[in-house]
Amino acid sequence: MSVPESAGPPEEAIGQPDVAALIPTVRRIVASRVRDRAAADDLVQETLVRVLAAADRVEPGMLEPYAIVTARNVVVTMWQQQDRHRRNQHRVVDLRTPDTPDEDMLRREERDAVAVALERLSERERKALLAHEVAGRDTRSLAQDLGSTAGAVAAQLNRARARLRVEYLLALDQVEPIGERCRPVLLALSSGDRRRQREVDAGRHLLECELCARLSQPLLERGQQRDDLVRISIRADSDVVLARQAARDLAERVGFARTDLTVIATAVSEVTRNIVRFAGSGEIMVEMIEGPRRGIQVVARDAGPGIADVERAMSDGYSTYHGLGMGLPGARRLMDEFALVSELGRGTTVTMTKWCREG
Ligand SMILES: [Zn+2]
Repeated sequence: MSVPESAGPPEEAIGQPDVAALIPTVRRIVASRVRDRAAADDLVQETLVRVLAAADRVEPGMLEPYAIVTARNVVVTMWQQQDRHRRNQHRVVDLRTPDTPDEDMLRREERDAVAVALERLSERERKALLAHEVAGRDTRSLAQDLGSTAGAVAAQLNRARARLRVEYLLALDQVEPIGERCRPVLLALSSGDRRRQREVDAGRHLLECELCARLSQPLLERGQQRDDLVRISIRADSDVVLARQAARDLAERVGFARTDLTVIATAVSEVTRNIVRFAGSGEIMVEMIEGPRRGIQVVARDAGPGIADVERAMSDGYSTYHGLGMGLPGARRLMDEFALVSELGRGTTVTMTKWCREG
């Protein structure tokens, strides 16, 4: 797979963060707390896995503070687990154990926390979120009700989800009051908004605030479960269909007009089919772009033979699989931005973006 050397915004989003550079710091933190060498190694690895899982949700400068608080947290979690294990061992021989298992209580607490979190949203946020998530209303019809645009409703829903996650964790923890910087920091982390993370200096706050250090973990480790990103590995024609549908669904949530949904789905088909034909296998990632300008970004990459003459491959009418579609030039025409990086023998990465027109 090839990642271009110039680290513009799209490459920054897909490039592997330098986690190896964090190893000495993480090792030092864990070793100062855990004597056992093998256990320490496990904890270091666990920390790095978590940092990797969160890497694309935080701005690059925040990786180190995040690694530090994560290392501290995994050590504490290990102690808690050992402690719980000891208590459970005790419980096995204690015949007067109450009938209600811990899990029931846990579930009740979670339900209560969701209720509390929903209460803390604004009336407007709560209504929109419930209509969308519970009643299954789409952004277009909600926009009509609210006299707004689908894009604005989608943005509002994402903000509401981010806030709901934060309020849920606070309610579950029953921590109140908190410092006045805590909510803005947690919100910036929850929404994965890197610009906002810089503005509120989230990295420094995580190091100073024990509460946020703890609560930020589940916010940042949503990893593969991110609802604003889809990743599909591409091997066969059936994957082309999957990728196409996934891109369409995500674009619909951004608030694209119906004709644009077809345009995006078609462009995704073209780059995906290109992977199947020429590289055999690869990966496609479709991501919602949030912020003042909304849109959708598609990154298609493979570790195939690469393209010898990119200019020729991108010229209209050129297609090595005769008549089977519009190929890469077609995809470029359909999208607003298109970048192709190819390295012979190493593979090709196509990054393309479509911006949402409001209305
Ligand atoms: Zn805090």
